[in-house]
Amino acid sequence: MIIDMHTHIVPNEFPLATGRPSGSAFPSMKKEDTDRSTIVIDGKDYRTVRNVCWDATKRKNEINNEGTTKQVLSPLPELLMYHIDPADGADLARHLNESIAGMIASEPDTFYGLGSVPMQDINLAILELQSIKDLGLHGVEIRTNIEGRSLGEEHFRPFFEAAANLDLAVFPHANRPTFSDRLAHIPASVADAPLGFPIESGLAGASIIWSGLLEDFPNLRICMSHAGGVLIPLLARSNENWHSREPIRKLLPKSPMEYASMLFYDDIAFDIAPLRYLIDHVGIEQVMIGSDWQGTGPKIPSPLEEFISLGLNDEEQDYLGWKNALRFLGQ
Ligand SMILES: [Zn+2]
Repeated sequence: MIIDMHTHIVPNEFPLATGRPSGSAFPSMKKEDTDRSTIVIDGKDYRTVRNVCWDATKRKNEINNEGTTKQVLSPLPELLMYHIDPADGADLARHLNESIAGMIASEPDTFYGLGSVPMQDINLAILELQSIKDLGLHGVEIRTNIEGRSLGEEHFRPFFEAAANLDLAVFPHANRPTFSDRLAHIPASVADAPLGFPIESGLAGASIIWSGLLEDFPNLRICMSHAGGVLIPLLARSNENWHSREPIRKLLPKSPMEYASMLFYDDIAFDIAPLRYLIDHVGIEQVMIGSDWQGTGPKIPSPLEEFISLGLNDEEQDYLGWKNALRFLGQ
């Protein structure tokens, strides 16, 4: 069995956008033909997607043909809109959550779900966490930074406390890098996702670990996207300093790498060597299959090819293939 924990959905349509405080920043869908629609944001075409993004049965048939048994559904990250009006953000999150719950209801043996909350308003976000629980979803996808703020900041503690109390998994997904001015001289097609996302994931993980968030909520299940980006090499120096320097050691009861081993990761490392490096540091029980699937074809390399390249035995293949995902989802 293969459970792909990093896949995205887009609803077939959005609640009416007219008359909203957020104006055209609120997303809408433009139908292209019977199979495809285009997401429109700020009056511009953002991305054209196929019906497998919202049709659960078509999606199930397609992924099963590609060798994936089950998927964890989460919103396309661009739809986690924290810059819009909070009430609009809450409407959007509820619509995404109900859309995912509907897909799970259509194919309950194939799909799990991570919803969305309006992180621009912590109280509304916590209210929506309860809705996520009530809808039967398994957790929540958030961005690695909340309009430039880091996840370990005290401001976000009540959100993580609520997620821990509700036994909901948290999936910080890299999006909108905050240091784009440093790479503004490089084309955005490279500076944004290819270079920016790994740094985003690393900064988010470092913020979670060095803020003591996992010390406060040790049972919180968090998965860092894209194999944690640069997180593990980023931690090496502070981890060494924690061991060798008493003032640093006094800052956290455990070493940074011990906390890194409490986090989950997908396997989207884009190369076998960094994936092996991640597994060697955090353990085979913390890494899951992911693909970023949104109707985009089979995962390359396939999970089996990856298992062979990593030299995994049968037990290790089960952990990476599906066991860790079930534990992350609280199943
Ligand atoms: Zn993704």
